[in-house]
Amino acid sequence: MRLEGSCYCKAVRFSVTSHTPYPYMRCYCSACRKTAGSGGFGCNIMAEAASLELAGEAEMRFHHGYEHDPDTDALVENENRRYFCSRCGSALWAHDPRWPQWIYPFAGVIDTPLPRPPEIVHIMLDFAAPWVAIPRGEGHRHFQRYPDESILEWHRRHGLYEGPTD
Ligand SMILES: [Zn+2]
Ligand SMILES: [Zn+2]
Repeated sequence: MRLEGSCYCKAVRFSVTSHTPYPYMRCYCSACRKTAGSGGFGCNIMAEAASLELAGEAEMRFHHGYEHDPDTDALVENENRRYFCSRCGSALWAHDPRWPQWIYPFAGVIDTPLPRPPEIVHIMLDFAAPWVAIPRGEGHRHFQRYPDESILEWHRRHGLYEGPTD
């Protein structure tokens, strides 16, 4: 599926191909909540980095993700790069040089209508803000930290993977 995306001020526009376009995963970690999730969570999909077409790259900046060091309570930068528009602040996508074939666009900056997921997976609930109401019941799965399957595996399990088979 070809996706068009843009930041709020339109300085950054992009298109990218995704075989895994369902925005099913809500991440309540502090990075997603503070940078891209005013409702309490961020939502990323996964797309093919090699297919990215981009206008406005000069306006883009990135910040790193962090790991929490429980021994020192320090935040330690990791290699994950979280790109945003320097003009309007829109969170655009995450990219990790350790897995260069993927980018992880935030669903909120995709302008193409994304398919509605048949199930929502809530992750990083250990870090959810106390005011966030987390849906329970049928159609919702919950993880205190990382989920038990990748974005690719989730799409395959639901018969929704659209890409080449390997
Ligand atoms: Zn912008
Ligand atoms: Zn997160």
